[in-house]
Amino acid sequence: MPNVAELYQSLILDHNRSPRNFRVMPDANRSVEGRNPLCGDELTVWLRMDGDTIADVSWMGKGCAISKASASMMTAAVKGTARADAEIIFESFHDLVTGKLADDKVSSLGRLAAFRGVARFPVRVKCASLAWHALHAALRVTESPSTG
Ligand code: ZN
Repeated sequence: MPNVAELYQSLILDHNRSPRNFRVMPDANRSVEGRNPLCGDELTVWLRMDGDTIADVSWMGKGCAISKASASMMTAAVKGTARADAEIIFESFHDLVTGKLADDKVSSLGRLAAFRGVARFPVRVKCASLAWHALHAALRVTESPSTG
């Protein structure tokens, strides 16, 4: 059996206790709700896009430690980035938690590499990716084929 300590890294516990960007965003121009009924995780992600840049991102919700820490660290990772870069981080993170990311690419995720243990706990993959799927959906809301 995989060691649970591998899953609950100190960085994850810290973000669970003190979630970053945990607030409603009144001036958001996009929002998406996400649900993981298997675990009971529910959250909303707000974005304020400035052109193709994520000028601000926030979230609120409830759920397990993994879902909350993942949402918190997602907002910290993509705030201020271009949409295309956020999509690349999304893809890499998704590969990380599903065990598809090559070992030599894990360090490119920086702090998000703390979620590498999730790949050994299949039931937690949806928890870890919930906020990211919401972000991904929010980024695509007004996607226009002529830009970028
Ligand atoms: Zn969960």
